[in-house]
Amino acid sequence: MTGGEEGYVSEVFRSIQGEGPYVGVLQAFVRFAGCSARCRYCDTEEARERTRECALRALGEPRRVPNPVSADEISSFVRALANVPGFHSVSLTGGEPLDQPEFATALVARFRAAGIPVYLETAGLSVEGARAVAGGLDFVSLDIKLPSLCPGVSLDAYRSVLPLFEGARLFCKIVVAEGFVMDELAAAARIVSAYDRATTVVVQPATPAAGRGAVTGERLLECHALASTYLDDVRVIPQCHGCLGLR
Ligand code: SF4
Repeated sequence: MTGGEEGYVSEVFRSIQGEGPYVGVLQAFVRFAGCSARCRYCDTEEARERTRECALRALGEPRRVPNPVSADEISSFVRALANVPGFHSVSLTGGEPLDQPEFATALVARFRAAGIPVYLETAGLSVEGARAVAGGLDFVSLDIKLPSLCPGVSLDAYRSVLPLFEGARLFCKIVVAEGFVMDELAAAARIVSAYDRATTVVVQPATPAAGRGAVTGERLLECHALASTYLDDVRVIPQCHGCLGLR
């Protein structure tokens, strides 16, 4: 147990956002270590558990510091990464940032004080965590988890989480992968629509990996058509950072 001034971070680095409507912008990424979800398509297995060390990556070999790491240390490293032309924002990603709500809140306060816009990537499975950080966010990527791919998730919980991010530029992401249930995509689209049908929703096909094939183009067209019966701005966008050779 740590106070809010310390937390578990897997790595911090600068890269290009590879997902969603802000694909292509330059960000610093703070990858929280630890995640209570168990998505079948998880592509950050190394960040699902609390790691012993945090890698601070700039040029050359990363500097490794023991976890838990202080909010001041992360904030100071991010300020250095942000000090380049064309910088967009700092992304709190994971793992799951809202599994460490006090630490996430401490970081958000420091980034705001430094004038760095904050972009949160979350599965939104903790209403209390979302409530804790919501007021300090500029951008939110709310990753709505389909129960067929993330066992134990209840779509209904998103009805409570969506309004908490009212003050930020919010979009939703729904990952589809082999074995997903189309009716769940429709249910998720209805929940977002009940909040605000103008919300941008990105259907993101999971990147094929060993033991997991691609969702076909035909299925993706079905996804777009179905979600668009409830929503005004549906986009199908794959993950791009892998194609760019970036982390
Ligand atoms: S929420 Fe993210 S980090 Fe956690 S299991 Fe799912 S994909 Fe992996």
